[in-house]
Amino acid sequence: MLSDIEKLLQLQVADKEIRTLQEEIAALPRRVAVIEDKLAGTKAQLEKARAAAKGDEANRKKFEATIQDLQGKISKYRDQSLDVKTNDQYKALLHEIQFAEQEIRINEDRILEVMVNAETREKEVKAAEAELQAETAEIEKEKEGARKITAADQAKLVEWNTKRDGLRQGISADLLRHYERVMKFRGTGLAEVRDHKCMGCQVMLRPQTYNEVRNGQQLVVCESCQRVLYFDPANELKSEPAGSQVHARKRPRPKADAPQAWFYRPDYGEEGEVLLVFTNNEDSSTRRIYEMHSGRQIGEVLSREGNYRLAFPEDMTESTIRLNGHWEEQEIDEWGSEMPTDALDALHADLRAAQKDRPGRKEHAATPAEHSTAS
Ligand SMILES: [Zn+2]
Repeated sequence: MLSDIEKLLQLQVADKEIRTLQEEIAALPRRVAVIEDKLAGTKAQLEKARAAAKGDEANRKKFEATIQDLQGKISKYRDQSLDVKTNDQYKALLHEIQFAEQEIRINEDRILEVMVNAETREKEVKAAEAELQAETAEIEKEKEGARKITAADQAKLVEWNTKRDGLRQGISADLLRHYERVMKFRGTGLAEVRDHKCMGCQVMLRPQTYNEVRNGQQLVVCESCQRVLYFDPANELKSEPAGSQVHARKRPRPKADAPQAWFYRPDYGEEGEVLLVFTNNEDSSTRRIYEMHSGRQIGEVLSREGNYRLAFPEDMTESTIRLNGHWEEQEIDEWGSEMPTDALDALHADLRAAQKDRPGRKEHAATPAEHSTAS
């Protein structure tokens, strides 16, 4: 292998590492912000419960004052009744007294109601206080964790940046510029050649180009994706796989409007080859990623607004290959962190068929990789 290629490979490792670290550093404040939002909600709830309790207390005082007032009136009417001259006057006073007594009973009922309510209010306040305390502790823990990870990441970032600068010094300016331009647009600037194919974009190379890369005498870039090509003899296929004749039957085309869509991507960040599945829901879509050869799930299920083609534009690169495959959402959930072998085998087989189907490449039986276990 050319020494320039070796340097570029090391540079690519450094670049990927730096990108991962930067993404992690950027993601941490967002996680803290989510909990802070929740905390603000609990605080508002507590304030509301406290304000309601305060309001009840004010009402109770008001009702008590009204009762006192009415009692004063009654005793005044009683005094007046001693001095009345006519029966009608007496009846009128008696009526006033009865009315005031009725009002007192109404206010007494109101006070009782407030007192019963107060117990519920107290419980609400206590619950909100406990929740706030728990969440405050949680956010402190989360912040502390984020601080530690960020500090560690930043230290690693400094190391990697130094390493990267050193590596860049040893590479010619033209090559470096080319590598960095391609990486900016495609995520990677280098691609391995395997089985006559650029693993970056899956395009078959012309025999002459292939030989040039294999010989390692000069730097060759992929005509299709512009990545700098390199050849690693350790990864070349020993022979045509026995399964290459199995898919003689025409491969069905995946439906463009299917609510679930599987893709193969050869160049997903530092993970390299991955399988992606997108599911369109009513007004959102989700993405799951699996490691190509082990079927191990990478990261969490990601949900975004809108149809997956619009929601995940960064995944719709020209090197992605749409695959046939459909499993119920519930079944996929049940897979957990690892795709079962039969699903993985089916997707591998379909990928091989898809690569064979690609126009102009029928003379080669393309396979995803030599690790494939599909029969
Ligand atoms: Zn390519």
